[in-house]
Amino acid sequence: MVRRYVVIGNGPAGATAAAIVRGLDDAAEIEIVGDEHVPFYSRPGLAYLLTGTIPEKLLFSRPDTEYARLRVRRTVGRVIGIEAGRHRVVLSTGQALDYDRLLIAVGARALRPDLPGIDLEGVVTLDNIEDARRIIRFARRARRACVIGGGITAIELAEGLAARGVETHYLMRGDRYWPSVLDPGESALVEGRLTEDGVRIHKGVELTAVIGARGRVASVETRAGTSLRCDVLAVAVGIEPRVELARAAGLRTGRGIWTDASFRTSDPDIYAAGDVAEVLDPASGTRACDSLWSIAIEQGRAAGQALVGAGEPYRRSTPVNVTRIGGITTTLIGAIGSGGREDDLVTLARGDSGAWRQQLDAFAVIADGGVDHLRLVIGEHRIVGAVVMGDQTLSRPLRHLIQERTDVTAVRDRLVSSPSEIGPLVTALARSVGGP
Ligand SMILES: Cc1cc2nc3c(=O)[nH]c(=O)nc-3n(C[C@H](O)[C@H](O)[C@H](O)COP(=O)(O)OP(=O)(O)OC[C@H]3O[C@@H](n4cnc5c(N)ncnc54)[C@H](O)[C@@H]3O)c2cc1C
Repeated sequence: MVRRYVVIGNGPAGATAAAIVRGLDDAAEIEIVGDEHVPFYSRPGLAYLLTGTIPEKLLFSRPDTEYARLRVRRTVGRVIGIEAGRHRVVLSTGQALDYDRLLIAVGARALRPDLPGIDLEGVVTLDNIEDARRIIRFARRARRACVIGGGITAIELAEGLAARGVETHYLMRGDRYWPSVLDPGESALVEGRLTEDGVRIHKGVELTAVIGARGRVASVETRAGTSLRCDVLAVAVGIEPRVELARAAGLRTGRGIWTDASFRTSDPDIYAAGDVAEVLDPASGTRACDSLWSIAIEQGRAAGQALVGAGEPYRRSTPVNVTRIGGITTTLIGAIGSGGREDDLVTLARGDSGAWRQQLDAFAVIADGGVDHLRLVIGEHRIVGAVVMGDQTLSRPLRHLIQERTDVTAVRDRLVSSPSEIGPLVTALARSVGGP
């Protein structure tokens, strides 16, 4: 019998799963439906498009011809319903696609705070390439922009607008940047860089309304009763998994679509992966949501295997993001939560992981040298997390030690008491256990 697989979502989770299914089931009929009218592209790369560092064409990493080669039918369209009992999905055109197995990989969307005027033209979020193009168009005419929110996307929006010559004001509700993940010194590094790049930072400012003129943003009002004129308001207060298709189909959902460790939802023929999924981690017995490119690919790979009935239950890898925050190359690995109160994000952000905020029985060692900053979070026997800013020499060895849960008991005291020895110790230890 030829099996028919339908994948909803042409992001890294869906596209990877489709390719894996083809590799394991040569006769299968595979269809991937995505509602964006462009070929597959790098979402993290949108930040570089905004700052003008790369041209748009560099974002497209998988041409549509790749689907033809894999004999995957690619349909541009929006799925508006899943009829689980009839094993079919319905597109906004009325077209219906039958499936034997379905994968939902529709990602997450940016949230907007519930403020008067939040739907005015000129209020922007950054989910996809269309949003990035819109922001670039607005930036051509805008004189002044305000940015609210936190995490990586708020910084990307502020830097992108400033790089395009717009006077940019970053309004923080709290007193420092991304306090739930970064420690005070790390926040200060990022804020310093943003200021150097011309972004004006205001702390302890809460928006109460967006004021429009002729349907467009004209200014914002704050709780303190002040008003700031602006033509663009960029918002990055967090994301929410797109669970509505699954909920309407009667699938079990929490923050995301609930799946077991094989990505199967509460319907045995429907699977979910990527930003939309809340996947059971058998090791911890908990479900977690991430918004990380590498995890979406990893889950797409495992879900593709599970769809055809192959593969092992998922073993969640250590969440890692290698990114630029305020122009500083930064690697975030494992349990790094600094416990700070988060005022600027209402939920998880992009390029973020719930696991980073884990508070383990561990403490931090800091080795500093200006912008080259390293924070190791060390438990009793192993390194559980690390933040590497600037020089990235130790980023891969640390990732290896944390991922492999390497026992560091023998050198723990030296790691803790002698920060200048961390470099050679980490390098030697990683090599001794087969790392880079
Ligand atoms: C601006 C930005 C910066 C980021 N920075 C980083 C970073 O620094 N590091 C990092 O690791 N990650 C980063 N991320 C997060 C990363 O891109 C996501 O974790 C990843 O793309 C999730 O993959 P996915 O396949 O689950 O979903 P997505 O990539 O979101 O793909 C889902 C696709 O499904 C489509 N879709 C939705 N609903 C429907 C429907 N009803 N019918 C048809 N199609 C539908 C969507 O339009 C989209 O094309 C960033 C994301 C953004 C937007």
